[in-house]
Amino acid sequence: MGEAVMANLRIVRGDITQIPADAIVNAANPGLLGGGGVDGAIHRAAGPELDVACRRLNGCPTGEAKVTPAFRLPATIIIHTPGPIWRDGSFEEPKLLQSCYVNSLKRAVENGCQTVLFPSISTGVYGYPLALAAPIAVQAIQTFPANLDVRMVCFDDVTYQAYQAQMD
Ligand code: ADP
Repeated sequence: MGEAVMANLRIVRGDITQIPADAIVNAANPGLLGGGGVDGAIHRAAGPELDVACRRLNGCPTGEAKVTPAFRLPATIIIHTPGPIWRDGSFEEPKLLQSCYVNSLKRAVENGCQTVLFPSISTGVYGYPLALAAPIAVQAIQTFPANLDVRMVCFDDVTYQAYQAQMD
């Protein structure tokens, strides 16, 4: 009996724009027009060509994921996924957040990627409680059936601790 192949997850601290990988995931907004937080950092680091490529995609619904080249980032592609804005948890936020991770990993596999970096989707400006988002992210990644090397790149210590707690 062979073991089922699942994505391997590690939690790291750092700036997602500085770490080499095949794919980096952007916590985008549905317009794909750039914004603050990690989205702004990715657009600044990738260069103005990214904005041009994003405009051609005509937006992306919450929970889905679309691909552009990574331009000046040390990656091959950027996977843009708009997370849900947290309201009170009764507006399908958990299902949409899980879809962000699953659809992003599908795009990674379709594009032949092995190493994939995620930021903590929705837990910044979009207000998703970290303690509720972390288990959804970890479960979605660890049950994804592909041989991928995935890293959750946490920008601050509180985020790092919340994800690390899910790994113990
Ligand atoms: P959202 O709108 O989905 O909430 P944000 O960008 O506001 O997205 O926040 C998502 C997470 O990304 C937050 O934990 C924030 O601290 C983090 N973040 C911001 N800049 C970076 C970066 N350069 N690398 C990794 N994570 C980052």
